[in-house]
Amino acid sequence: MKKHAIIPIFIPHKGCPNDCIFCNQRKITARTADVTPADIHKTIQTYMSTLSKMDMETIELSFFGGSFTGIPMEEQTAFLEIAKEYKDRGIIDKIHLSTRPDYINPPILDNLKKYGVDVIELGVQSFAEPVLKAARRCHDAACVYESSRLIKEYGFTLGIQLMIGLPEDTLEYDIFSAREAVSLAPEIARLYPTVVIKDTPLYDEMEAGRFIPMTEDDAVMRTARMYEILTDAGINVIRVGLKSSDIISDPSTTSGTFHPAFRQLVEGFLAKESLEKQLKIMYARKNVSINPSTHDPIKVAFISNRKCYNNMFGHGGVNRKYFSTEYDGLDIRYMCDYQFSSDLHLKDNQYLVKDLSK
Ligand code: SF4
Repeated sequence: MKKHAIIPIFIPHKGCPNDCIFCNQRKITARTADVTPADIHKTIQTYMSTLSKMDMETIELSFFGGSFTGIPMEEQTAFLEIAKEYKDRGIIDKIHLSTRPDYINPPILDNLKKYGVDVIELGVQSFAEPVLKAARRCHDAACVYESSRLIKEYGFTLGIQLMIGLPEDTLEYDIFSAREAVSLAPEIARLYPTVVIKDTPLYDEMEAGRFIPMTEDDAVMRTARMYEILTDAGINVIRVGLKSSDIISDPSTTSGTFHPAFRQLVEGFLAKESLEKQLKIMYARKNVSINPSTHDPIKVAFISNRKCYNNMFGHGGVNRKYFSTEYDGLDIRYMCDYQFSSDLHLKDNQYLVKDLSK
């Protein structure tokens, strides 16, 4: 199967005038050398030496880090010229970058268009004003709507990044933010449960007892609700949870909800919820108790497509353990849709319980 490759170029936002509560860019940039055009050539060449263009459906050059369009225009242009050169030569297929909603305007977008940028991701974090304010984002939600509209109008692919569990955030605000994101019709989204990183104002707030990070269970549940809203709307959620390499040089300096397999936790949670809902209906129809069993063993099949098969077990087999503990006398066969029936084609994150006792 052909794959999608990303060549990441970290552009630290030196001199960022903002002071977002969760961000350690100031500390990172203080320790990071400037990225030069030569570095970009070198990174691309290093990656290309390990990638076979034949096996790749798309190769994206991705500028991440701070806020690409917040750096001086001459620097943006110097980086984009290199990216465009590789795109024109057919070595890469797409140019991807992320930025802040308030660093989008027509002259900036004209420049990005001129250099063949394809995807613009906005670090929105939340659509709830109290959360934006508490996170010291220094822009309001209206700015997000306007910049998203402009990005779409210019014909770029729009991405929306949202955070969960910042100060003042609630489950209701998370659901609101996911729904507002859907209203802007982005093609892609990322969900980042808040990770408290050392050397950030949020870390100081936590140390002073003024901020309590979410528990992992809460973070998984809230992220799952947002994931569901976005994926049901056909938005491709390309990332759930930070990668350890994203901004965390040393995961031991973090607190909160960092988990290297956060996506699996969320997808496993949703699989368990869906399977359990169907099981409960089945038990009610049969008029039998769940635990302790007062009935003959019930045989069921838990079914998903091949891609989502492991979600039914949950990360580390947590769902499997749950069902065997909570459902006395339940005999489960885990199956892929094509094993159950050649006519059954389940969508991603769609799960079925079939009664095999009949
Ligand atoms: S999140 Fe972006 S805008 Fe905010 S302080 Fe960090 S680099 Fe600056």
